[in-house]
Amino acid sequence: MITVRGLEELPDGKYAFVESYCDKVSCDCRRVMLTVLGRASGARVWATISYGWESEQFYERWVGKAEEGWDHKGPYLDPFNPQSAYADALLGMFEYVLTDRAYVERLERHYRMFKAGGEDERGLRVQRKRSKKPKLRVVQ
Ligand SMILES: [Zn+2]
Repeated sequence: MITVRGLEELPDGKYAFVESYCDKVSCDCRRVMLTVLGRASGARVWATISYGWESEQFYERWVGKAEEGWDHKGPYLDPFNPQSAYADALLGMFEYVLTDRAYVERLERHYRMFKAGGEDERGLRVQRKRSKKPKLRVVQ
């Protein structure tokens, strides 16, 4: 959450950067999508930012040689999600926030937490089985 006051490029107010992560456990994309919402503007999306905290080399390996790693590293305004006239200013602000190492570490931690509790196809099957037929098994 950032508070803006007296800036030319952004209306005064509070802006929340809401994190979203990919929920496929088998996918190790190491990225976050941030939806920027204004505290007083409800569901209106001010910007959608994609960001990966790993090295360019990591994303190059991850996407294959054909694409540039920095395209995936970001941060950049996600072309497939809503933006506003203020999106560029918010991206600039986010780049500044990224200089705070603790914030980046928090994003990484949230990603790992999310992946650990995310929905895996295998995990779901196990859960369904368990609820249908409760059964205790001792593994030694
Ligand atoms: Zn993913």
